[in-house]
Amino acid sequence: VPELPEAETIKRQLEQTVVGHIIVRVEIPVPRVLHTDQEVLEAELAGVTIIGAARRGKNIVVQLSTGKAVLFHLMIAGSLLYKPVGSERLRNTQVVLVLDNDYELRFRDLRKFGYVKLLDEPDVLKAPEFSHMGPEPLSPEFTLDLFKELIDKRSRSKIKALLLDQSFIAGIWNIYADEILFFARVHPERAAGSLDEEEVTRIYDGIRSILPNAIEERGSSIASYVDLFGEPGKYSEFHEVFNRTGEPCPRSCGGKIEKTKVAGRGTHICSRCQK
Ligand SMILES: [Zn+2]
Repeated sequence: VPELPEAETIKRQLEQTVVGHIIVRVEIPVPRVLHTDQEVLEAELAGVTIIGAARRGKNIVVQLSTGKAVLFHLMIAGSLLYKPVGSERLRNTQVVLVLDNDYELRFRDLRKFGYVKLLDEPDVLKAPEFSHMGPEPLSPEFTLDLFKELIDKRSRSKIKALLLDQSFIAGIWNIYADEILFFARVHPERAAGSLDEEEVTRIYDGIRSILPNAIEERGSSIASYVDLFGEPGKYSEFHEVFNRTGEPCPRSCGGKIEKTKVAGRGTHICSRCQK
């Protein structure tokens, strides 16, 4: 699942590639992935200039000169690719924006859960599609005080379930939740209300350091994720617990990384370090 660092990577790459270009036409080999009427989408996009790219949580948005925007939701296994016109299209390519520079932006989703939707509000902080979402963890507004406040309101929830809850905090999913909790030495089953101030602070510090580090490495490639240029992210090499079941704990505590299930998700922990 592409999470915040992967979506942010693609957003930044969109800024370097498609922004400033005109959409010559739209091709929609698989209209089923549209959450907007096909004719409306084609009419709204053809001849329009892309003026920006944005991200909200795990969602990627391309902003248009008409004041509208296109949402690409990658869901579980979706990707956006920037390729020259005429180069071979991968199977399951579902929507293609052909640009005026002989490149095209291709949306594909192997698992077919992702979707494409026209938005009337290009500002991702105002768009009703995202109004249910919690704060952006890398925004200046997301302070330690705010995080403490939010934790206090959800004291009975397990901390991992909270980190996965997009209405609590945006953009974190299974990989980064596990990495953040290992960093913080907090067991994922702990109730939020049982965490002391130091533990909450360590989780906050984990969020604010791990996500930027992962963006720096263009995200993590587990399963199918690739960036806009089709390249895997390199942060997977830096994972301390995720997908490292059976390996010795990187803190050299003598323990091994175990896999359990928390909040319905496969969860990686060192039970010696995380209490
Ligand atoms: Zn350990």
